[in-house]
Parts: sequence; C-alpha cells; structure tokens
Amino acid sequence: MAGLEAFGEELKSLISGKVIVREPLERHTSYRVGGPADLYVVPSSRKSLKITLKWTVEKRLPVFIIGKGTNLLVSDAGFRGVVIDLRKCCRNWIRSGNRVTIGSGWILMKALEQLAEEGLSGFEALYGIPGTVGGALHINAGAFGTEISDHLVEAEVMDLTGDVHKIEADALDFGYRRGIKNPGWVILSGTFELEKGCTEEIRERMRQILDRRREKQPLSRASAGSVFKRPPGHYAGALIQGAGLKGFRHGNALVSRKHANFVINAGGAKAGEIKELIEIVRSGVFKKYGVALDLENELIGW
Ligand SMILES: Cc1cc2nc3c(=O)[nH]c(=O)nc-3n(C[C@H](O)[C@H](O)[C@H](O)COP(=O)(O)OP(=O)(O)OC[C@H]3O[C@@H](n4cnc5c(N)ncnc54)[C@H](O)[C@@H]3O)c2cc1C
Repeated sequence: MAGLEAFGEELKSLISGKVIVREPLERHTSYRVGGPADLYVVPSSRKSLKITLKWTVEKRLPVFIIGKGTNLLVSDAGFRGVVIDLRKCCRNWIRSGNRVTIGSGWILMKALEQLAEEGLSGFEALYGIPGTVGGALHINAGAFGTEISDHLVEAEVMDLTGDVHKIEADALDFGYRRGIKNPGWVILSGTFELEKGCTEEIRERMRQILDRRREKQPLSRASAGSVFKRPPGHYAGALIQGAGLKGFRHGNALVSRKHANFVINAGGAKAGEIKELIEIVRSGVFKKYGVALDLENELIGW
C-alpha cells in the first residue's frame, strides 16, 4: 500500500479506536507467526467499524477480519491491506430469558464462563476452543459433538457498505466446519437459545471437557489446533501417525507427538516452515493412504 503512514493518519482522523501501521501479525496469531498487516485497526464502536469498512471500499483496499488468530497461518510477508479487530466494538451481551445475544468480539471461553455464571447450558462441550465468538461462527467451530450453530437463532452481520442485517439461522447453510463464510459480511453477534441449568453442574462439565482436551492436545504449545479437517471415514491424526509423521520436524516446525493433527511452532519457526511441513504431511498421507487432506487452518497472505 503506497503512503501507508498517510493512509493511517487519514483513517485515524475519521474513527475512534486504534490504527496501527505495519503491525506484525505474529502478535495476533496462536502459531505466533505472520508478517505485518499494512494497517491494523481496532475500531472502538460500531460506528467506527462502519466508517472503516466504507473507507476501505472507497480506497479499494483488501480487508481481513481477525478474531483471536487461532485458526490462521499468516505468511511471513503478512497481509497487504487492512486487518480489522472487533474485540472493542462487538462486546454486547443482551439476555432475555434463555436467549442471549453475544457480540462477536467476546472470547468464546469467556462467553461460556459467563453463560455458566448465568445458569445457561448447551455449549459446555465447546469449552477450550480458544478463539472469539465471531471466529467460531465463521467456521462453525465444534467439539465433542456440539457445534456453535446448534443453538444459534440468528446472526447479525454488517456488509461492506456498513448496513446491518439480521439473518435467521435456518437461512444459513451450516455444516462441518462450514459457518457464516460470506466474504462480504462482518459478523457482529450471534443470538443463541440455551437451556436453564445449574451453574455448578455446568462448570463441572466444562472442567471435564478441558481435562479431556489437556489429555489429548498440546495446549501449552504454539499451534492453531487441528491443521486438517476430518476426512470422511477417517481421523486425520491417525492417518498422519500411520504415515510415520508423528513427531516429524521441519526446521522449527514440528508435528505434535501428543496429537499428530497439530503442528507446533517449536520456537522461532517461520510461517514458511510451517506451511512446508503441512505440505510434507499432506503428501505423506496421500502417498500412504490415497487420502487428500483438506486444510482446516486458513492461509492468509500467501
Ligand atoms: C489449541 C487449539 C484448539 C482448538 N480446538 C478447536 C476445536 O476443538 N474445534 C474447532 O472448531 N476449532 C478449534 N480450534 C481452532 C480455532 O480456535 C477455531 O477455529 C476458532 O473458532 C477460530 O476463532 P478465532 O477468533 O481465533 O478466528 P481467527 O482465527 O482469527 O479467524 C478465523 C476466520 O474467521 C474469520 N472471522 C473471525 N471473526 C469474524 C467476524 N466477526 N466476522 C467475519 N469473519 C470473522 C476470519 O476472517 C477468518 O477467516 C483450536 C485452536 C487451537 C489453537
């Protein structure tokens, strides 16, 4: 982007919130890799989000909405365009009976803790998924038989002209890791219908889920969760292990010994090394089993 500083100053004068020039995305991804975004914007209100979106359309700049960066492999070159972070502008929480509207900027685990506090049950199995509510709706995050779409009543989205639309869940085509993926929509919130439950019992189920995750997943290491989707009739981790790739190291990127479908930044890895390792794994599994693994991680800036 030419004249980045000038672009940044112009946007800063139009909105309330942060506008950072050349922000390293490794600060915002769980792999801890990724080069700079030309502009990294944290609007502090919906109005500022709307102005930012309209401004990027007017300037013809590519836009990327970032959640907590826990499903992303951002290239070492970074992202040429504007990355928008909704953590400040989408923080609403409105409860009415068993229905709750949750802003997309909420960290999913914090939202689940709040649901437990309020005695609302249904999402315990998602405890431990480390992104935002918006990211979860985008990918239809799920675990242990529950998906975020299961209790969704409607989603609220903003289009790139800043208009807001409410869309009923039935009108959205959810599937396995297929969520609200319209590239022209910024997810503002989700409204969920849950069941009344006992706070202590909900918390206990969440604790058990977290224990199961800790047993199986390398949660203390830098990763982006499962690299590949579950291929029909198989488990990606079992295929990777069967292909002899569990623990395989490429530079500073490593196939986890604890869960072979996790790739780990073992310290100082480049995004390029992680991507190469992912390709090594994909071709190793294809050679051995003839199964073409499909990426669950999303590639940005390649
Ligand atoms: C240790 C670990 C365990 C994990 N376990 C699971 C699991 O059990 N199940 C599972 O499904 N996933 C899992 N994941 C992957 C990841 O946490 C989820 O996919 C999560 O939902 C991503 O949310 P995020 O906020 O980090 O999104 P990001 O990674 O920041 O973004 C992902 C995508 O969502 C889009 N997006 C984010 N917010 C919005 C918005 N408001 N509007 C429009 N688009 C948006 C982004 O543009 C991008 O395309 C795991 C990851 C880790 C690191």
